[in-house]
Amino acid sequence: STISPPHLPRMSVYHYLFPFKKYKSKHRSRFLYYPDPNLEKPSFIDGITGRFVTRAQVEEQSKMLATGLKIKGIERTEIGCIFGMNSLEWINACFGMQALGAVVSPANYAYTPDELLHQLRDSTSSFAFVQPALLPTFLKALELDPNYSIPDNRIFLLCTKEEKEDFKEKGSEAEKGWMDRFLCTEELWEKSGTPKRFQDGMEERTAYLCYSSGTTGRGKGVETSHHNMTSQVQALNCSYEPIKYKDVILAMLPFSHIYGLTVTLHQPLTVNGTVVILPRFEEMNFLKAVERFKVTWALVVPPMLIALLNSPNVAKFDISSIRGFMSGAAPLSSDLIQAFEKKFPHIKMTQGYGLTETTPVSHVMNLEEARGKGRNGKIGRVIPTYQARLVDQETGKDVEPSKGERGELWLRGPSVMKGYWRNAQATQEVFAEGGWFKTGDVAMRDEDGYFSIVDRVKELIKYKGFQVPPAELEALLITHPEIADVGVIGIHSKEQATELPRAYIVPKSGMSAFPTPQSKLEFTNKVQEWVSGKVANHKRLRGGVILVDIIPKSPSGKILRKDLRARAVKEEEDK
Ligand code: AMP
Repeated sequence: STISPPHLPRMSVYHYLFPFKKYKSKHRSRFLYYPDPNLEKPSFIDGITGRFVTRAQVEEQSKMLATGLKIKGIERTEIGCIFGMNSLEWINACFGMQALGAVVSPANYAYTPDELLHQLRDSTSSFAFVQPALLPTFLKALELDPNYSIPDNRIFLLCTKEEKEDFKEKGSEAEKGWMDRFLCTEELWEKSGTPKRFQDGMEERTAYLCYSSGTTGRGKGVETSHHNMTSQVQALNCSYEPIKYKDVILAMLPFSHIYGLTVTLHQPLTVNGTVVILPRFEEMNFLKAVERFKVTWALVVPPMLIALLNSPNVAKFDISSIRGFMSGAAPLSSDLIQAFEKKFPHIKMTQGYGLTETTPVSHVMNLEEARGKGRNGKIGRVIPTYQARLVDQETGKDVEPSKGERGELWLRGPSVMKGYWRNAQATQEVFAEGGWFKTGDVAMRDEDGYFSIVDRVKELIKYKGFQVPPAELEALLITHPEIADVGVIGIHSKEQATELPRAYIVPKSGMSAFPTPQSKLEFTNKVQEWVSGKVANHKRLRGGVILVDIIPKSPSGKILRKDLRARAVKEEEDK
């Protein structure tokens, strides 16, 4: 059955999520699943403390925050960074910026100062919201570049007044000092006094600037317009097992990644569902939250399923409320789905596919479609707002899926990003004539229109759903005094349901300097540790370091990752 495309409203994210009464009654039928809000119902609950905000509070506080930002002299043309784990304050900061009309650039909380600085500087962020525990990283990032700075009165703490007082009482000397130096979100909106929204008529402007390495190189700002986001939510609401009013949705994927941002922060508000937020996935907190809040639906990445499959603690909790999981951001194997459904028969697994550049979902597998039809592991069909092609990379022609041919997946639709922020060249490289976006993933399509992802032609590695750009690790490794050349790839770990970054390195002293396995091991361990000290946790070389004579390269000097990947597969088999 094909679903007809939904109405695509032309308005800003904020007006879409919190429409004026007049607009709402006039266009009621055009919004999908938009029941009247129950004023007492929590919209977002802190899964650890139980503190919550209702829909009315989210709206009111974000408007107050917008006024507060305005009083501070922050304009709707500015870009602000949010650096913190999922929290109610994160949500307040995000929608406050949206009410003002500013651009939100969310940063991964695991970043090192250097990684954070790259995003701050590249995005030209001129103000920021920072979780107190991450202030040291944030301030260190600012110190790294004397030519870039954000003044103190434009840095706001992601915490409540109460938490701030607590820090003042119990914190270290440095923490006490910071508490005096910066305002917290609550103080910012309290001081403003009047709730006001400022933006309008800006659907084609950029709403979010999430960072993705795309097909190659370092992180780039993905310009997600208001229309990209609203059209995506409209499409999600009519295309797969949609989240409903009664659902209690667990949000432990980081809001800083487009998957968490769209599917756990925006979509649930449009159906007035309840979202339970956790700072990150941690087995016990997950189980406790499911039992306490009777969670019905969770957005996951494959490694979380492995953790639950192997968890000895699951039996101690009542998780019968869960009706389904949606997995995305990385491949989910049919073996894993089967093992999971066998152990937890009441939880139906489904999967979605997408990219930061596509806001993110382009394909979803409905629960009923997947069950018992040999479709396990497929990513499903194209959602109604998207069009897809499979293209031969060499010839640029469409392949013939009916003959089992595979091709690069190209996408077109209203939720494809505007482009990479201030990077015309990278933007040009990923768009083909006619507005087609080249995903860098290789896919197949069966006769019923179900797609499966079979390979990746771009450079990206994904560790537990997080991006690891190989070029970034290579650029770092080459600065090591004992390394002459390097190539980084991802190897697949079935046990952990993820890829692991592995480096092949040519030692400056030559292979003969390491005659024994022991001497090799000492050197490679040293390199692994050196990298761990310099990158975010998810970028560590968990797939190992291997010494080689030479890195295979094309005549033009490009690393032949295909050869390295083939080599890795062989090495794993020989183990
Ligand atoms: P990101 O921009 O971080 O969301 O990464 C997007 C990339 O993640 C895609 O281009 C794919 O390579 C990969 N990806 C996302 N979802 C899936 C999925 N369901 N199956 C396989 N790969 C996926």
